[in-house]
Amino acid sequence: SSTTHVISPTTNGRPNGNATTTEANSERVQIINDEKQFTTELTPQIQRWGLQNAGFDYNIVAVFGSQSTGKSTLLNRLFGTNFDVMDETKRQQTTKGIWMCRAKGMNVMVMDVEGTDGRERGEDQDFERKSALFSLASSEVLIINLWEHQVGLYQGANMGLLKTVFEVNLGLFGKKSADGRNQRTLLLFVIRDHIGTTPLANLQTTLTQDMQKIWDSLSKPPELKDRQLSDYFDLSFSALPHKILAADKFETETKELRQRFADKSRDDYVFKPAYHKRIPADGVAFYMEGIWEQVQTNKDLDLPTQQELLAQFRCDEISAVALNEFNEQAKSQKRPIELGKVVEGLGSMMRNWRTGALTRYDTAASRYHQGVYKRKRTDLIAVLDSTLSPYFLGQLKNLHKSWLATFKKEMLEGMRGDSYDFAEVVAHARERCEKRFLEGAKEALVEDTDWSYEEEFSLLKEEIKSVADQCRKDETKKMVNVIERNVKRQIAEPLELALNKPSPEMWNKVLKAFRETLDKAESSYLTKAKSFNCTEEENDKALAIVRKRAWLALRSKIDEQTADIAFLGKLRTFFEERFRYDEQGVPRVWKPDDDIDGAFKKAKDETLELIPLYSKISPTDKSLEFTLPSDSGDSLATADSDELDFPSTLIIFSETKAIDLANRFRKDADAYYVEAKRSTVSSVAQ
Ligand code: GDP
Ligand code: MG
Repeated sequence: SSTTHVISPTTNGRPNGNATTTEANSERVQIINDEKQFTTELTPQIQRWGLQNAGFDYNIVAVFGSQSTGKSTLLNRLFGTNFDVMDETKRQQTTKGIWMCRAKGMNVMVMDVEGTDGRERGEDQDFERKSALFSLASSEVLIINLWEHQVGLYQGANMGLLKTVFEVNLGLFGKKSADGRNQRTLLLFVIRDHIGTTPLANLQTTLTQDMQKIWDSLSKPPELKDRQLSDYFDLSFSALPHKILAADKFETETKELRQRFADKSRDDYVFKPAYHKRIPADGVAFYMEGIWEQVQTNKDLDLPTQQELLAQFRCDEISAVALNEFNEQAKSQKRPIELGKVVEGLGSMMRNWRTGALTRYDTAASRYHQGVYKRKRTDLIAVLDSTLSPYFLGQLKNLHKSWLATFKKEMLEGMRGDSYDFAEVVAHARERCEKRFLEGAKEALVEDTDWSYEEEFSLLKEEIKSVADQCRKDETKKMVNVIERNVKRQIAEPLELALNKPSPEMWNKVLKAFRETLDKAESSYLTKAKSFNCTEEENDKALAIVRKRAWLALRSKIDEQTADIAFLGKLRTFFEERFRYDEQGVPRVWKPDDDIDGAFKKAKDETLELIPLYSKISPTDKSLEFTLPSDSGDSLATADSDELDFPSTLIIFSETKAIDLANRFRKDADAYYVEAKRSTVSSVAQ
């Protein structure tokens, strides 16, 4: 059977969960049962009383005094509580234990001790002593309730018990109490059935002297032997008339006494800040349980240690709750970031989650032991920040990726058409990309962290540069291709003209035309390249390619012109002009005594001399000689990466090729010779 009771007088056995606030306010809880166990119900009860979030805005009062001196009656009158009052007609045995109620209309927790007077009934005084000690250690105001006629009577007024309680209290909790402001307690003496013949002032003097005597007679721990009563306690006094004989006066004076608990503006308001234990309302249960534990085991612990233990326990709990909610919130954006999305307003979300968690923590935890509170706060911040840090880094990565893609797109858009300035396009796109990244990165930054976006930013800048470089390379390549096409086109005609008029100056003409075309190409490259912000080295490279390509273009045109058929045609024409036509260009009609053999030989020899002339590109004007470095490697186009052996490109016909061509030409020439001979024969025959 349960030995801990929560009684809700107005709910008639209905579950407490159904109780309305008003009903809940009048619930009482047995915090310590007759088996000296501390209840597990106090925290939920404090919640139902609506005091959970009161922070420090609450007070605790307890009562001390002999059995049946009207303690419960007094508490009920003062605080509107419903502690059991002994019914005279039944004289039932009340259950031992400590009960707690919430005062009506005040944030006050009221404790009432039920029990037998062990001394009177010959029982052991263990419970009495412990409950008294507990009341003294845990409350701000301890009402000491006694009959007027008990004043001055050491035994009758429970003064012996008080002495023991003081002694143990000092031993258990007194060590740091003299300088600790939260260890002061108000002892409020309420003298009952005050008849009035002895003025309160006199009773007060007697009681003060008694307290002093008790204090002086305490066996104090050596280190506390000089501590005074006034180091720990304030004394205050009040008297009430007889409840039955002066019922009206009793009612008005209890009402008046009530004001000393309710009215903060009064000078004699009892709940002075100095008495407050500085335990937040939500920690009261744990704190009291700790005190009870100490009282029970008589551990020589002091309150500060207890407060630190409490603070560790509560701050951890509060921190865990705050962290839980924070994690819930943070979870929502985890996937999008992992999926590479730039989360709009992530920074402000993170700041909200973080401040939210810290505010939740601070609100509840800052009331606890400051050292512990601050330490646990630092721990909490570390956890919060280490949770958020991957979000920040993820966001930076995604910003980087997305704005770099936009940068590429804008580069390509800017480079459409012919009339763009490459450097301007790059500068513009880069500026926007960097600005957008920085905006996003700054938004995602959370204050008071050591986070930084510099590293990601410099990575981005590097990639911007390499994208721009790639674009520039592509552009340069395109430009070189265009120039190459132009060179080919421009060189074709002058080359054809020159090669069709064989002469020792032929190569001079070819190379002069080539030089002019190339100069134009180079200057057109340089004009365009200016906007590319190319380095000197890059320009040199590109120009080397332009030269090489132009040269190869020239070479291939020469190859066209000197292909076998074309070249043999040229030889034939040259030969014919000399053999079949006279110096005036008139076709010859051979007569029998003409020196056909001599003319044939002359024309043939002159023609054969052309072969060495065409075999090698060699200008008579040495200033027109063109050369290329042989190893002009080309990084822009793989097709050009074959090594160029420049001297070999000067050779048009190899020796063997020249002999072959000469032989083929001779055959052609021989045919002309035979034809000429025949024509004389036929003319003779006619
Ligand atoms: P407790 O045991 O100290 O809590 O005392 P109770 O409040 O239960 O009261 C014990 C008895 O004393 C009851 O019968 C009350 O009616 C009676 N009583 C309460 N207040 C007074 C009082 O001020 N004067 C007198 N003479 N009797 C009182
Ligand atoms: Mg009672």
